[in-house]
Amino acid sequence: MNLTQKILIGMGIGLLLGALYQWAALPEDHILITFGLDGVIDAGGQIFITLLKMMVVPLVFVSLVCGAASLGDSGSVGRLGGKTIGLYLLTTALAVSLALALALFIGPGEGVADTMDTEGTLSFAAKESPSVKDTLVNIVPGNPVKAMAEGKMLQVILFAILFGLALSQIGSAGAKVRDIFESLNAVLMRLISMLVQFTPYGVFCLMVTLGATLGLAEIGKVIAYFLTVVLGLVMHGAIVYPTLLVALAGLNARRFLLKLRQPLLVAFSTSSSGATLPVTLRTVEHEVGVKNRIASFAIPLGATINMDGTAIMQGVATVFIAQFFGYELGITAYLTVILTATLASIGTAAVPGVGLITLTLVLEQVGLPVEGIALIIGVDRLLDMLRTAVNVTGDMTVATIVARSEDQFDLETFNGAAPSSDQKLAG
Ligand code: ASP
Repeated sequence: MNLTQKILIGMGIGLLLGALYQWAALPEDHILITFGLDGVIDAGGQIFITLLKMMVVPLVFVSLVCGAASLGDSGSVGRLGGKTIGLYLLTTALAVSLALALALFIGPGEGVADTMDTEGTLSFAAKESPSVKDTLVNIVPGNPVKAMAEGKMLQVILFAILFGLALSQIGSAGAKVRDIFESLNAVLMRLISMLVQFTPYGVFCLMVTLGATLGLAEIGKVIAYFLTVVLGLVMHGAIVYPTLLVALAGLNARRFLLKLRQPLLVAFSTSSSGATLPVTLRTVEHEVGVKNRIASFAIPLGATINMDGTAIMQGVATVFIAQFFGYELGITAYLTVILTATLASIGTAAVPGVGLITLTLVLEQVGLPVEGIALIIGVDRLLDMLRTAVNVTGDMTVATIVARSEDQFDLETFNGAAPSSDQKLAG
């Protein structure tokens, strides 16, 4: 059995067991709850996510230093950086526009107030969302070590790129440091391969918890909103990316998407593109065929700043909340939404649930009540899982397009058999 099959089985059995827990409604002090669900299973899920997170800061730092150093050598860092960031912004803006169009067409918020008791449900303590200016200023690390310790990814990224560029400019004087970083990179990739083997068990634990706590009734209440977001995510993943991939990279989109199974399943189960990063990076290099030079640069950057799925949720949510409260938004407001949601998605940390916090930024920009978030918070957990999978797909799509355009793409790997991680590990 290959790893993907094992992950799928872990997921299925996990969800089933979780649903059983929900159905059985055991008393809180039952041993199956205290020792099982809240004990071993919860611990298993947390350990899995923490193990993945453990990799993120070292991986982003080492990988970007290597990437920037080799790009700096060829003098292509500016062009490549511009191309990558430009594509990330473009796909995000496309995502919000698609979301707005869908939401306006479907009108998920119209008439909701008639069917739903809004009294008292609309209290939402908006957490402070950083302003656009703060987001920009906060990219510069006052202390890179502190930035790493606190996991401030944008700061780590900036420092790593500058460090890598400097390294590329000192020639042979930097050879030793470069070797060290190259070896560190190899060690980290190996470590990821080891951790990935635990995925089926980690995913199993996470899915049991999900199945045991998932409130289907909540989805029923805002079903139109939920389905509009899902439709937006599916269309973006199944139409927009494949179109870009075929048009800009001339690759078989179906083959591409099939190769993404593992990172997508991990993204779905962890709701964190940050935690998924190790698996994303590994897949893009070893399954898709993006050369390390591009992958090590584009993927950590994308995991941090590119969140198309999040932007889709924010676009639909904005229209939904406007319709719900009976606000009319004009064309300027929609353009503002496209701009702020694109920026908000850059400022969204790659961890669960943050997209909902940065949604306040978008709502405030167009003068909508942030309390509206209370309407959708109940279904956000599931949507977070789905949108994280789209976020990760976006990173891999852009990395692939950039790699193809730079002739840094291994067609043989791409045309080879889909996930071969088990064989690779065995070898
Ligand atoms: N969970 C998302 C991610 O990590 C971010 C969000 O939309 O909350 O990609």
